[in-house]
Amino acid sequence: MVILEGRSRVAPWASSRAQRRLVELESLLAGQDAAEVVRTVTRALGEHRRAFDEEGIVLYAGTNTMSPRALAVHEATVSSRPSMGWPGEKFQAGLEHLDVLETVAPLRMASLMEGRFAEVRLQSATLANLACYTAFARPGDTIAVLPEAAGGHASHHAQGAAGIRGLRVADLPYDADRFTIDHARLPGFLDRERPAIVVIGASLMLFPHDVAAVRAACDEVAATLIYDASHVAGLIAGRRFQRPLADGAHILTMSTYKSFGGPPGAAIVTREEALAERVSAAAYPGLTANYDAARLAPLAVTAAELAETGPAYADACMANARALASALQAAGFSVAAADLGWTVSHHVAVDAGAFGGGDEAARALAAGGVYLSGIGLPGQPPGEPMRGLRIGTQEITRRGLAPGHMETVAELMARLLIKGEDPARVLPAATALRGSVTGPR
Ligand SMILES: *Cc1c(COP(=O)(O)O)cnc(C)c1O
Repeated sequence: MVILEGRSRVAPWASSRAQRRLVELESLLAGQDAAEVVRTVTRALGEHRRAFDEEGIVLYAGTNTMSPRALAVHEATVSSRPSMGWPGEKFQAGLEHLDVLETVAPLRMASLMEGRFAEVRLQSATLANLACYTAFARPGDTIAVLPEAAGGHASHHAQGAAGIRGLRVADLPYDADRFTIDHARLPGFLDRERPAIVVIGASLMLFPHDVAAVRAACDEVAATLIYDASHVAGLIAGRRFQRPLADGAHILTMSTYKSFGGPPGAAIVTREEALAERVSAAAYPGLTANYDAARLAPLAVTAAELAETGPAYADACMANARALASALQAAGFSVAAADLGWTVSHHVAVDAGAFGGGDEAARALAAGGVYLSGIGLPGQPPGEPMRGLRIGTQEITRRGLAPGHMETVAELMARLLIKGEDPARVLPAATALRGSVTGPR
């Protein structure tokens, strides 16, 4: 095959922006021997650690930093010995020690999230959602989900896990002005569409859902209600924001590494044994065979810690979000949902239309040491690129930033976006702010 000049060898089908970056790196990395590869990846890891763990202000909503005790039990050597089957009947003999992890993690997760059963073997929330679609729908069935502009996740939609399962996707009626499901139109919609599954929960969650009302409507058409708590699991663990299983969701799915602050991976929690059994079969032997039990030690420790510290952590995340929203508005930003009080979660959304949209604004902020991402806003016209900037306060809260610091955070963002200052001059201020706190402890 002829390799064309200027085309990436990793992904020649990627966007031109991605290809420019890939080609730049591909030429830099060409022809390295093993020792050079070791040096290259070691340097990359070190620089990433410095930017994200030592110097930057990480406002990205989709990650977190683990607690010292959780990090300390993350044992890399266990990851290269994945295991298969239930404790007591493992395919491999001699894994009695890992049985401890495989028992403590689901027990702690189930009780923390107010369920009775927790499936913890899946590597990501996308796979957790796919396991639920496998358990509760057949190819050709309809799944009703939040629109993408309302934060409906790719794994809810046709390009993601719902499409992989062969489901037909219908967008739930949504009231963009009120950042909520349109409850007046919901029963008629469900009656027409007859979904097997309804998914609520999204990648931007400023306000809780009325779970009980959605469940009542689901019962009319015998739909299974899944609450995707990927972003808000840390708040729910602290008994804040809302209580999806107590309020009627059949199933709660979640990422374990966003506001939850644990290792990468997912959990699926429910109160009903019959549902848990179907999810379990979809997870194993459905979507996993051997799986990485190393994740379960930090997961169990994170869950046990949140059972003690979760309420204070959730309160602090939410207080920081309110303070930051207010400081951003005062600094001249257009903060989404202003007439609704901006947020009652740890998320804040900013309209970045004036700065070229969410992606471009996020890149400008990263150059000054402030890391976050774009997000679609519910009111934006269909087809417009992501108009919003999404902020999550979970990591800065764990680092030790408090409401009193939020004016400084807003000022960093204003210097980079509103005043258009040279990022090289703003970066030291971001680093100084990060250096003024020393968490997590
Ligand atoms: C992040 C996210 C997921 C996917 O989680 P992965 O672990 O990245 O697969 C699923 N649902 C929602 C709402 C999310 O925000």
